[in-house]
Amino acid sequence: MSNHADLMVIGAGPGGYACAFRAADLGRKVVMVDPRATLGGVCLNEGCIPSKALLHAAEVIREAHEMTDDWGIAFAKPKIDLDKLRAKKDGVVGSLTGGLTGLAKRRKVQTITGTATFKDDKTIDIDGADWTFDQVVIAVGSAPVQLPGWPDDERIWDSTAALELREVPKDLVIVGGGIIGLEMATVYSALGANVTVVELADQIAPGADHEAVKILHAALEQHDVTIHTETKVSAVKAGKTKITLTCEGAFTGELSGGAVIQSVGRRSNGPKVTPENAGIEIDDRGIIPVDTACRTNVAGVFAIGDVTGNPMLAHRATHQGHVAAEVASGHAAALDTTLIPSVAYTNPELAWVGLTQAQAKADGVKHKTASFPWAASGRNLASGGGDGLTKLVYCPDTHRLLGATLIGASAGELLAECTLAIEMGATLEDIALSVHAHPTVSETVGFAAERALGTLTDL
Ligand SMILES: Cc1cc2nc3c(=O)[nH]c(=O)nc-3n(C[C@H](O)[C@H](O)[C@H](O)COP(=O)(O)OP(=O)(O)OC[C@H]3O[C@@H](n4cnc5c(N)ncnc54)[C@H](O)[C@@H]3O)c2cc1C
Repeated sequence: MSNHADLMVIGAGPGGYACAFRAADLGRKVVMVDPRATLGGVCLNEGCIPSKALLHAAEVIREAHEMTDDWGIAFAKPKIDLDKLRAKKDGVVGSLTGGLTGLAKRRKVQTITGTATFKDDKTIDIDGADWTFDQVVIAVGSAPVQLPGWPDDERIWDSTAALELREVPKDLVIVGGGIIGLEMATVYSALGANVTVVELADQIAPGADHEAVKILHAALEQHDVTIHTETKVSAVKAGKTKITLTCEGAFTGELSGGAVIQSVGRRSNGPKVTPENAGIEIDDRGIIPVDTACRTNVAGVFAIGDVTGNPMLAHRATHQGHVAAEVASGHAAALDTTLIPSVAYTNPELAWVGLTQAQAKADGVKHKTASFPWAASGRNLASGGGDGLTKLVYCPDTHRLLGATLIGASAGELLAECTLAIEMGATLEDIALSVHAHPTVSETVGFAAERALGTLTDL
């Protein structure tokens, strides 16, 4: 029997399944292949969702602690049943991946469990079987970068291992202070580990607004996380009872832990599909270049998500998935925006979209900034929130919003207003004159705009 797909989707992550489902809704006959038994890719199985389930637990632990310390409502020290917590996290993942299976069935998307590689530009091999296709979408995502020269030791974890929640070590060192490393620091410090973060750059969350990052840095330290920036790990030794890292830079010395998390970025899985057999261009970082319509250099071959490079985020993959499905089905579509929001789901959350102040300066973009401190937000204080900030970057001539950074509880939820404002070309007046409900932390966005316009009465 010959195997043929009208549209073949390789990889069932948030890019792949969004593409497959959209294409099926447009009337295409879709086959989707992934070696995992469950759909959802890294995001659902070992990324966005399990990390947020554990971060929710961490937040409740912190809140109970703060209630006892500051609000006169005493809770006993939490007893953490790691098996039950792991089962709860796995249950959340299971209900979402199970839901996807149902959605695939409803749309008659054929799913195959297997690994695909290109034989030529019209054929892939899936575990020894040839499949031909009219069009194909590469959505194979990314994997954690492994630092070269590190020993092979089960106490050295990547993000996947860290989310398995094998144990809570007394001392945990996290190498890499990007979003994933900081989220893991938030989880494991709340669960009781002494956490140290080592970061090569001059700030944690490199690329985010410096002023906001200072607030996050202070909050993490308040939660007993030790942070060493401008520090490089130069050697690693796996001893009998601990892993020891030799560090050089702003911190010079040794750090030891019962476990170490490597969190130094992710690398595209592009080379794993042997794209060269189909003449598909791939760069030396394994990234498959695409245009705004997600087309590769080969006709009928599309690529979406992490395999197409930074920012490696689920919502970018999903939007690209829709674009690829629509373009492949003869519709006009493109993801022609640099506005991909970023959120670190730390405590407090750090969220940003568009230009930061530093980026605007570096790019020579004429700009001004206006901020509103969350210490003056009634809702933030009444909800037990700590230090926070809403900072807008805008054009002084047109008053159009160019970027926004927010730090504070649920900052990630508030970011949507700023993203929409920038996409719609909204001005400071549009934002300031939109009535924000009181008391909400969303008011801080309106207040920052009022501050820029000189109409603020709340400071
Ligand atoms: C700990 C962690 C937390 C994260 N948190 C967030 C977050 O909060 N928000 C956010 O936006 N992003 C987050 N991310 C990033 C997000 O998970 C990725 O950006 C997203 O999953 C990328 O989607 P994708 O569809 O490109 O690929 P993936 O989700 O990586 O899926 C690719 C799929 O392709 C399959 N595959 C690989 N090779 C082959 C092959 N040869 N044949 C067939 N199939 C193959 C893989 O098995 C995988 O299932 C997080 C990542 C991690 C690791």
